[in-house]
Amino acid sequence: MGVIKKDLVESGVIKEDEKCHICGDIKASGFWAGHNGVLCVCEFCAKDILPLLIVDSLRADDLKVVPNMERVLEHIEGVFWRAAYIRLQSQR
Ligand SMILES: [Zn+2]
Repeated sequence: MGVIKKDLVESGVIKEDEKCHICGDIKASGFWAGHNGVLCVCEFCAKDILPLLIVDSLRADDLKVVPNMERVLEHIEGVFWRAAYIRLQSQR
């Protein structure tokens, strides 16, 4: 899962009103601690840009035939639903 914004703000890693690192316009709502720092993403870019990055990041072999693409999409959907469940559980 992503990192907790409150912890990042308190430790001075990001500002309270940190902007999205992709578009630079909208306040970030999701945070991911990567090897070279924290990636901050807004809701718009999460829905419209990150899927493009996912496809760009895949091996060419995974995109050559529809069954491969379907298998990759099923995997991504599984990860998405697990993350959504964990996030909903953490908000209770
Ligand atoms: Zn954005």
